[in-house]
Amino acid sequence: MREEATAASRAGAIVGLVPTMGYFHEGHLSLMRKARAECGMVVVSLFVNPTQFGPGEDLANYPKDFARDCALAAAESVDVMFAPEAGEVYAGDHATFVNVERITASLCGASRPSHFCGVATVVAKLFNICRPRRAYFGMKDYQQVRVIETMIRDLNFAVELVRCPIVRENDGVAMSSRNSYLSAEERRAAAILRRSLIGAGKAIERGERDGAAIARQLRASIETEPLASVDYVAVVDADSLEPLGRIERAALLAVAVRFGRARLIDNLVVEG
Ligand code: AMP
Repeated sequence: MREEATAASRAGAIVGLVPTMGYFHEGHLSLMRKARAECGMVVVSLFVNPTQFGPGEDLANYPKDFARDCALAAAESVDVMFAPEAGEVYAGDHATFVNVERITASLCGASRPSHFCGVATVVAKLFNICRPRRAYFGMKDYQQVRVIETMIRDLNFAVELVRCPIVRENDGVAMSSRNSYLSAEERRAAAILRRSLIGAGKAIERGERDGAAIARQLRASIETEPLASVDYVAVVDADSLEPLGRIERAALLAVAVRFGRARLIDNLVVEG
């Protein structure tokens, strides 16, 4: 993989990497399309990274359909599908981890304590293996974007992270491989996330500046849906991810909510 990418770079191509865990939907395909439009060589990595799953999470059940994924990537004119086995990525006595501090403490990092260490470690490895100039990440995983941006800056990776907008279903539900865990009833109920985020965004537009009041409104709105079980609701600074008492600069409204066995995340950025 590294030889191919290095050869392409030497020949003058920009290498673009789209890291994924597979089971593609339009969200993944939108990243591939953007990479295809901007890069001479597009690499899609498909790796269900064991180090970013905690005990009791869905590593063993994570949905997969490799043949379908390959066909979808080929239809987007992806050049390389890089799909290594876990044993090829991690030596049996793997000992080195990338720990991005502070920004990983809140939101998903609070309920999934080892998650972002696993993410940063595997993305650092993918950067070293695939040698991209650009890497494409979706804003659905907003905290992940901020973690990787911080790692790129702090460890001087020669990679530009390209932020890509959230792709949604018609009813506003953010596309996610984990939506396949939802029953029909849970899938309908999940639309409460986007509706509640938009409601909270409107309250800010109308002049509400109290972060805690917005968070309370957001939580109350989500909890009108009986199938929703809130993991967290947060109103934070869009860069530092620190809690925002007063909304005076760009704010991130972020939620993680369980519907049955699916834990879904969504967010809205409100410019200050
Ligand atoms: P995953 O396979 O879930 O790890 O996602 C791989 C990449 O696709 C990540 O950068 C995600 O943020 C991005 N992604 C996942 N769902 C969406 C979506 N609905 N819209 C935009 N990007 C997404």
